[in-house]
Formats: sequence, C-alpha cells, structure tokens
Amino acid sequence: MDLKGKRVLVVGLGRAGLAAALFLRSRGALVTVSDVRSAEALEKEIPKLLEEGIAVEAGGHGLLTFRRQDLLVVSPGVPLDTPEIRLVRSFGQTILGELELASRFLKGQTLAITGSNGKTTTTTLCGAILAASGAPTLVGGNIGIPVVALTGVSREDGWNVLEVSSFQLETTETFRPRIAVLLNVTPDHLDRHGSFENYREVKERIFRFQTGDDFLLLNADDEVAARAAARARGRVFWFSRTRVVRQGTFVHNGTVMFRESEQGGAEPVLPVAAIPLKGAHNLENVLAAVAATRLAGVEAEVIHAAVRRFQAVEHRLEFVAEVGGTRFYNDSKATNVDAAAKAIASFDGGVHLILGGKDKDSDYRTLAPLLAGRVRAVYLIGAAAAKIEAHLQAGGAAAPIRRAGTLAAAVEQAAAAAEPGDTVLLAPACSSFDQFRDYQQRGERFKELVHALRDAAAEHHLLKSGAGQSA
Ligand code: ADP
Repeated sequence: MDLKGKRVLVVGLGRAGLAAALFLRSRGALVTVSDVRSAEALEKEIPKLLEEGIAVEAGGHGLLTFRRQDLLVVSPGVPLDTPEIRLVRSFGQTILGELELASRFLKGQTLAITGSNGKTTTTTLCGAILAASGAPTLVGGNIGIPVVALTGVSREDGWNVLEVSSFQLETTETFRPRIAVLLNVTPDHLDRHGSFENYREVKERIFRFQTGDDFLLLNADDEVAARAAARARGRVFWFSRTRVVRQGTFVHNGTVMFRESEQGGAEPVLPVAAIPLKGAHNLENVLAAVAATRLAGVEAEVIHAAVRRFQAVEHRLEFVAEVGGTRFYNDSKATNVDAAAKAIASFDGGVHLILGGKDKDSDYRTLAPLLAGRVRAVYLIGAAAAKIEAHLQAGGAAAPIRRAGTLAAAVEQAAAAAEPGDTVLLAPACSSFDQFRDYQQRGERFKELVHALRDAAAEHHLLKSGAGQSA
C-alpha cells in the first residue's frame, strides 16, 4: 500500500487514531485529523500533530474535510453511521480502520482473538506463552497498544498477538489472521451494532478473509460461536470445557488435553488444578490459549509452565485482599451481564455482590437465578440501580437488594455485613461512565476502599493488642 502523497483523513483522535495519523504521516501521506472534541479537549494531542505537519480539525467534522480525500481511516470509537461517514460511503470512498491499515504493514504471523468477553485475558495469556517459547512476540490491538505501533517492530519470524474488538472488525477489508479465535458471542454493545445479528456478523469478520490454510478456533460450549463453523474459511479447531472435541482442546480426568487431528491421539498439556485463575470462564480462556499456541507450534511443556505462572489481568476477577476473613474480588471489567454472571458463578456461596453503573440497554433478569444459594445480598450503585432492582425482582431474585448509591457505601455496607469466609465481589454488569472515568478508575477506587479497610483493621488489631499489654 503506497501512502506517499495520498490525502488521508483520520476520523477520531483516540489512542488508535492518533497512532494511525502519525504512522500515515511517517509514510508520506498528507494527513488531516478530525474529531468532535474541542480544541481545548485535544490540547495535548494538537501540538504534536501540527509539528508533524498534520492538519487538525477539532470541535466537529466539516463535510468538505470529508470530501477531498483519497482515503478515510476511522477510529474504532467512531460509529460508522454518522451522517458524514454515511455520505462518503455512498460515494464509494475507501474507509479503513486502524487494524486494517496496520495489518497491511505487519510482518510475521498473526494470532487474533475476539469475543464478547475474555479477550484481554486470553490475548495476554497467548502472548505470555508465545514469549515463553522464545518466539519474537508482540501483543497489541484493543488491549491498549495500537496495531500500527507494532508494524515497525514486527518481524517475519515473529508472532503478533492481537486483541480485536467488534468496533475494529467493522472496518476490515483484508485482515487475515493465521489463527483466529472466537471466544464467545453474548449480547454487548447493542447500542452501537443495532441488533444481535449484526453484532454476530461483525464478530465473524475475524475469519472472513481467512483461506484454507488458516486456523479458526471456536468455543464448542458457546452456541453462537459454534454456529460460526458453518461459515469458516480455514481449518476449524475447537475448545470445550464440557465435552471431548475432534480437534482442539478439552478436559479429560482433570487434565487439559490437545488433539491435533481426528485420527491422532490426544496429548496431555496441564492439570486443570494448575490453572491459577478462578472460574469456569477462565478455564475456557485457558483452553482457547492452549489450543491457539499449540497450533502456533509451542510445545506442551512450555505452555504448561507459562499457564502456571500466569496471574489474573488487573480488574478481571482480581483478588484484592482478605480482611477479617472476608475476601474481596475486583471484577470491574465485568461491564456486561454475561461477564458478571460468569463472575458470580465462580463462587459457591457467601457472596456480597456489588452491581450497577451505567446501563447499556441490558437485561439483568438472567442474573436473578444465579443469586440463589450464592449471593447473600446485592448492593446497587449508580444510575442503573432502579432498573437492576426491578429486573432482579422480576427474575425472582432470592437475595435482599440494598440501594447503596456509591461504591464507597456499597463496600462499607458489604464489609459490615460479611462474615468470615464470605466474599465481597465487584462485578457491576454495567459500564462505569455515570460515576467514573472508566472501568479502570472504578476498579482502582474499589481497591483503595478495600486497602483502607485492611489498614483500619490492622490498626484496630494493633490498638487492641496494645491495650491488652497495658492492662
Ligand atoms: P474483554 O477484553 O473481552 O473485555 P477480559 O479478559 O478483559 O475480556 O474480561 C472482561 C470481563 O469478562 C471480566 O469481568 C472477566 O472476568 C470476564 N470474563 C473473562 N473471560 C470470560 C469468558 N470467557 N466468558 C465470560 N466472561 C469472561
């Protein structure tokens, strides 16, 4: 792809848009960026862009800016149905995303992972396993490192492990991973994709441009993901927690097994007990990562050792601390109902559950049956509280529901009610934007609150023992 002298408009100045603009410029393109945010909001980015010779349009998009371009690069955060983009589309203008652009310049082989949940965990684990094998390994994509940032350092003999979101897949034209993983497809982002059908179709673009030599790895336990096999272009492999599969990974007698071909025997990779992550959903992620890296040629022993060493990614069912016999888990990244359900199901009982935040048109009724026998009480926070309460009640929730309002109040109330052996779980099932900048900030705040409880308990303990000595 020759970019020299091409007029390119980058729409949306998020992390990926910014990286794309600089990349395009470095390749000789005449770049303009356009963002709806004001010049003040972009004061950090603008000087750097101008210095590089990139024109900036802030505070909205002018139609003319869109017209006189050879190429449009749209950031994953920008919906494709804005009037400007619809218009240029109708003229047949080429529109690419940052992933598509970058993939045209990436050297080496690509392992790409998508799904509604588990992407970051599985991507990070695949990266760790491949790196442990000694292969030159880069990790990027939706995980926070733009793919264009990998292009310059990618190697012909290396692997690029990419976390890929539905927003990035909307704008692919040729993106063809050597190994594509579809973890699961459950309702999320329907506000952007319109319908579940559209969302599923977009997810399936991860393997849309594969050919017969490539690998597609599907979750046999996820009905929607499994049905994608009918549309596969490459060789289909499976992973399953619940059944033996013809080709791929499964569990047999407490051991993760891999079978490369239908005719061949299965090879043991690691005991399930050696997996340091909690929950059945994380077993799925591990099964996916084992199959993907085995297909990439990593030996079973190397995979075993790397999985054993792996720790939960921050804010993903992350253990925070134990205070007075109560264990606190931070799953702030459970920003949709399925992720929260998986988190709740990871515990056998004694759970004090913190739910709520900003609603995404979600149906919370499915959480209600999970509460019975597991959840002692629900603490609601944020803007979605009333809706969640109504849905839980409509679903026949067996646990008391308290309106805590803020995260601080929820932690305080949950900690006061919890008994030794109980768990306080933040798995909000909502996005965080009503009360926090993002899910990271919400998770950080939760951890601060828990650490404050721990420090107060330690101080209390000291005071008590000090008082005991002087008496
Ligand atoms: P993503 O990058 O797809 O958002 P993460 O690994 O960051 O995935 O996890 C997001 C949330 O989903 C977390 O709450 C995590 O505990 C939960 N989760 C992780 N893996 C799965 C899975 N396979 N199925 C359902 N939920 C999952």
